[in-house]
Amino acid sequence: MEMSSVCQSCGMPLSGDEVRGTEKNGGKSGIYCIYCYMNGEFTVPELTEAEVIGKGGQILAEIYGMPPEKAKELASEQVPLLKRWSGRIVPSCQSCGMPMKDESDFGTEEDGSLNRLYCHFCYSDGEFTEPGLTREGMIQKCAPMMADRFSVPEEKAKIMVENFISGLKRWNE
Ligand SMILES: [Zn+2]
Ligand SMILES: [Zn+2]
Repeated sequence: MEMSSVCQSCGMPLSGDEVRGTEKNGGKSGIYCIYCYMNGEFTVPELTEAEVIGKGGQILAEIYGMPPEKAKELASEQVPLLKRWSGRIVPSCQSCGMPMKDESDFGTEEDGSLNRLYCHFCYSDGEFTEPGLTREGMIQKCAPMMADRFSVPEEKAKIMVENFISGLKRWNE
């Protein structure tokens, strides 16, 4: 079964089973949230990518106090990569969340083969580039960058990073 840490229709983090959509047989969807996908079908089949970007931007602006144009910019980066709109799952680094669009984005093992779970910034030559990094450390490290890039207060940026990394494998083990 395909699995994703974010909804592949709207981009919401799939941080628990209760937010996962449902299949026809009653099972949980691996890739869509409960708002987008129920009983094996999209809840709003005619939904467009532009609508998801617009709505996503509004939600980001509301939750994180982000200026609307920045929120739209962020949504426009994330939404088109999702399977419902791109036709494929672009894997996210399971440490930092960066989308890995090309093979060159993947981390590397000691023998030079690719590690498809982690990006090359986080994982290189068979090990994490920052092996001691904790979940809290990751939040401390990323929040100021997010705050700066998206013009949100640092407190909000911390919540944003926390939500963003909550579904990632490295921080759930
Ligand atoms: Zn969704
Ligand atoms: Zn990474």
